[in-house]
Amino acid sequence: MSVAVTFLKGVKGARARQLRELGVETVDDLVRLAPRYYEDRTRVVGASELTEGAAVTLIVRIMRVNFRQIDRKRSVLGIIAEDDTGRVNITFFNQRYNRDKFEKGASAMFFGRASRGYRGLELINPEYIILTGDRPAAKDAAEEFRGIYPVYPLTAGLSQKLLRKFIREALEVLPPVRDTLPADIAAGLGLMSADRAIRAVHRPATLEEAEAARRRLAFDELLETRLMLLMMKQSYSGADDGIAFRDTELTRELTALLPFELTDSQEAVWREIQADMAVKRPMNRLVMGDVGSGKTILAMLAMLKAAGNGCQTAYMAPTEVLAEQHYANIAPLFGRLGVSCALLTGAATPKNRAEILTRIADGTVLCVIGTHALIQSGVNWHRLGLAVTDEQHRFGVRQRGTFLEQHGGKTPDVMVMTATPIPRTLGMILYGDMDISRVETLPTGRLPIITYLDDGKRRERIYTWAAKLAREGQQVYIVHAAIGGSDETEDDEDADNADTDLRTATDNFAECSATYFAGISAALLHGRMPDKEKNDIMRRFAAGEISVLFSTTVIEVGVDVPNATLMIVENSERFGLSQLHQLRGRVGRGKQQSYCVLLTDHHINPNPPEDDLISRRLLTLRDCLSGEKIAEEDLKLRGPGDFFGESQHGLPAFHAANLYSDKDLLAAADNAARQILVEQGDRPANQHPGYREYAEYVRKKMPGAAIL
Ligand code: ADP
Ligand code: MG
Repeated sequence: MSVAVTFLKGVKGARARQLRELGVETVDDLVRLAPRYYEDRTRVVGASELTEGAAVTLIVRIMRVNFRQIDRKRSVLGIIAEDDTGRVNITFFNQRYNRDKFEKGASAMFFGRASRGYRGLELINPEYIILTGDRPAAKDAAEEFRGIYPVYPLTAGLSQKLLRKFIREALEVLPPVRDTLPADIAAGLGLMSADRAIRAVHRPATLEEAEAARRRLAFDELLETRLMLLMMKQSYSGADDGIAFRDTELTRELTALLPFELTDSQEAVWREIQADMAVKRPMNRLVMGDVGSGKTILAMLAMLKAAGNGCQTAYMAPTEVLAEQHYANIAPLFGRLGVSCALLTGAATPKNRAEILTRIADGTVLCVIGTHALIQSGVNWHRLGLAVTDEQHRFGVRQRGTFLEQHGGKTPDVMVMTATPIPRTLGMILYGDMDISRVETLPTGRLPIITYLDDGKRRERIYTWAAKLAREGQQVYIVHAAIGGSDETEDDEDADNADTDLRTATDNFAECSATYFAGISAALLHGRMPDKEKNDIMRRFAAGEISVLFSTTVIEVGVDVPNATLMIVENSERFGLSQLHQLRGRVGRGKQQSYCVLLTDHHINPNPPEDDLISRRLLTLRDCLSGEKIAEEDLKLRGPGDFFGESQHGLPAFHAANLYSDKDLLAAADNAARQILVEQGDRPANQHPGYREYAEYVRKKMPGAAIL
């Protein structure tokens, strides 16, 4: 429908590829690439009125120019300029091409941020334009220089200048943008027209206009997504091709076997799950609960309910280690109830795998616990009744549907669990197509984890203390950002390991197991080890045979060893906030006091400025135990796009909307979406012109995979 970007002058090969990295394929995509922020060059101040850190425009006369070439690459161009208020120093580093641009006596306009140099406040490497008189062209150029400049998200190799130029050209060829938004909704919220918003967001006359334009575009993004999700949800809830599970004694038998009572909160969620399972409409429920809140038991109950009805369950965990652990915990218990279990992971031998696949296909196994291997082809279910996905945030939205395509029969109930209690607003988008249950409280008798932050000065004392705890029979995790031993790291994210300050798992293990932990059983665990060895070590740690575990983030999610009471995180500055919270959740699972020590080489500023993200992250974690608060802070620090780490989170691309700061718009979009849906249903659609068309327009945009 829309013209390809390659239609624009200068957009070919490499340029087109760079644009594609920004998600831009068409001219339409390009003009919807909203700026991250604006550079306001309209504010002109006097040369003597600079304040540190503030971006300003100066109109000055050049007084002195001094150029110095230091070596082949480095040069300094120093300029002294003045206006009626006083003098100012301007310095260009390594911009040799500017050396002959400034003549004594000429006037120029500069835009830059004042920073403190040798000679007081100065502008360093500012943007500039030489003022060449009163001719109209020169005046226009000067006027334009003093405008408001959009600053776009960039990819390597694409400069702001170039992107601005492409967008300007795109706007010139863009026909008037048709407004899809129903008029009464736009009017009710005082939103400007789509056409005006798209033009103004790139070339606003004032910052106010820029913000108004951004809001309009943000609203479009939010409403489309919200409506899409609600339509998906509606289509599930209308379905009646699922299974109405009957009550079974098995679930009561399980609760009788447990060494504890369910908390009120677990009971409440279990009732919601039961209600879902009892009806023919397939369950589509997200169970959200902080780390350690006891979600596994809820899944087990649901599995037994399915089993009692002769139906199979697929229980999918994001890591081998976690799948193993679940199997080790669940299989013996279920065995006592006469319910058969199997484990299917990538680690299975071909013979073993073939055997399990046969048992899945002929229905002789009821509960299959595993990893991604469960959704690979070749798995044919005899009678799949329930699909449970543990630690959903690790999988991404798309995979949710995958089970539903291969059930061969009735649509199975779907239950997903996550320990990242995302803020409500984000939940509306990320899980907007599901029913949500929250496990609100932790089991009673847990002591809050005590968290310390240390710059490494007390490492010796901390490790000595760890050894003491281990001798007393407690268990310790020591988590590292990299494996070491070779050049690879655990995550691609940590790829820059040219860094010598990185304390790797392998090196630290070699160093400490013989010193601090001499005579104590310690082991190394990381993702590059063979699966069998990994599982073996994890089993021995869970059994208490290993006291100190030197590991990477392989233990990040789900691992449950209640006797572990101390976690030390090396190079904690390398981890994300939610990730650290997950890691810390490995301790504090029993009745004993637990501790988490965050070690870092980063200088922690107790009152960190905006851009000291590391200090802000680590202090937040030290001072806060609530997963929900931490998630909120994480979202604020990272922006929603990065919130779930990789791009596989399945969120649609939001260019203009910010899921953190646009809460009000999201609430408005939620309202509007519901209203549009209601109008679709029982009231005459022509009551609100445009609703039906809008719903159609959004339906067409729905990705096939997401509709299921
Ligand atoms: P998560 O929600 O992080 O997946 P788990 O399901 O692994 O948490 O449970 C954490 C620990 O709490 C486990 O050792 C589990 O046996 C225990 N647990 C679960 N529910 C209760 C309860 N109601 N009372 C006491 N302990 C419980
Ligand atoms: Mg869990």
